Amino acid sequence: MIAGGTVVSPQQGRFEADVAADDGRISRIASPGTLDGETVVDATDRYVFPGVIDPHVHHGLFRPLDAEADTESRSGLVGGVTTTGNIFRRGEPYTEIMDGYAATAEANYRHDYFFTLGLLYDEHVAEIPEIIADHGVTSFKWYGNYKLQAAERFDLDRNLLDDVADRFVQRLAGQETPTTLAYHAENAEITERLTAELQAAGADGYEAIVEKFPGYAEAQAAVAGANLARQHGYDDDFYVVHVSSRRTAADLAELQSLGYGVTAETCTHYLALTAEECDQRMRINPPVRSQADQDALWRHLREGTIDCVGTDHIANTRDEKLGEDIWDGLWGSPSSATMLPLVLSEGVREGRLSLERAAAVTSTNAAKAYDLYPKKGAIRVGSDADLVVVDPDETKPVTPDLLRSAADYAMYEGREVTGWPTHTVVRGRLAFDRGDVLADPGDGTHVDRPVAGR
Ligand SMILES: [Zn+2]
Repeated sequence: MIAGGTVVSPQQGRFEADVAADDGRISRIASPGTLDGETVVDATDRYVFPGVIDPHVHHGLFRPLDAEADTESRSGLVGGVTTTGNIFRRGEPYTEIMDGYAATAEANYRHDYFFTLGLLYDEHVAEIPEIIADHGVTSFKWYGNYKLQAAERFDLDRNLLDDVADRFVQRLAGQETPTTLAYHAENAEITERLTAELQAAGADGYEAIVEKFPGYAEAQAAVAGANLARQHGYDDDFYVVHVSSRRTAADLAELQSLGYGVTAETCTHYLALTAEECDQRMRINPPVRSQADQDALWRHLREGTIDCVGTDHIANTRDEKLGEDIWDGLWGSPSSATMLPLVLSEGVREGRLSLERAAAVTSTNAAKAYDLYPKKGAIRVGSDADLVVVDPDETKPVTPDLLRSAADYAMYEGREVTGWPTHTVVRGRLAFDRGDVLADPGDGTHVDRPVAGR
């Protein structure tokens, strides 16, 4: 039972309440001082948010999934994360590997999770109905960045050209089960040519990866992808991941106003950093851009034309991550645990977002986009008791030790962030308590989503 906190709900606003859980679900919400429980967390002067859902992580990309499900869910709990969407891709049939993959996840996650599978070639397209029916996986990803690289990178017969995308969008549009198509919007013809030219010219520094992926190459691909979805009547959910440029945000807002069913996600690094502050630790695709981009993304997030925040979390050590120069080393950086604290510190405290909107963009909206709602993403009777208690006034500098990831560096190292979780509850069990991670590997479970005919 969480006693006397201020519940922050996108649907019902802010109110003081006791919130009780039984058998993993929220059983009662009542006036402060009226409920009791076996375990009681005092939330006086604190906020109670729906558990954070980070819809965009890559666990098990550079080291085995068993290790990362353990260490990265441990880190997530520190930041109030109760569910992650693990996006992965393999150049082989998923129907052959999913049983083993799912068993590894189930044995090692400390919080809940779901999967999003990359569609790379025709065999993946053919498998879609079986993946949904047999594994309950209903979200997929279209990697625009692998258009010209898929054959070599995944040892396939051919590249991931638009004819393949044309087929999988049609296939998804034809499913009775609600699905999600996450889309990495990048015009790879443009970015590959710019990359080759910049490398030949000896360009280096963070600005080089900003120049090789200009905002218009994201925006153009985002519009083209959304239009393909529109052509096939697919709007359930066409979800553009990691929107980084103001052009993309503006174009997607325009499509939404025209009736396109498209959902936009941005990531904390595009909201909390500018390119001038970045070095090889923030070698991320798409890159962090300008202050004008950052300001526009906050505005779209506030106004509802960007609906979700994710992190694109990838754990790696400083040695693995950093290369000879900006062209070398690994893509991606760890940041799931700082997602809610940064949205509170840089968003709510700076007057860019309301508390209710912060709860919506860090939990509820991702639950809706990925068909986890109202099991996840809601503080209401019957929903999973995934809750995070936040001290809005606690200020701490970000350090790798604080975040408990396998990564030995942080993108926001040294930054003073205000607004940290004191307690994280996963399905009614106290999983993080003022610095101590209490949940064990295996305590997390797969979030089953609705499947037609089941
Ligand atoms: Zn990603």
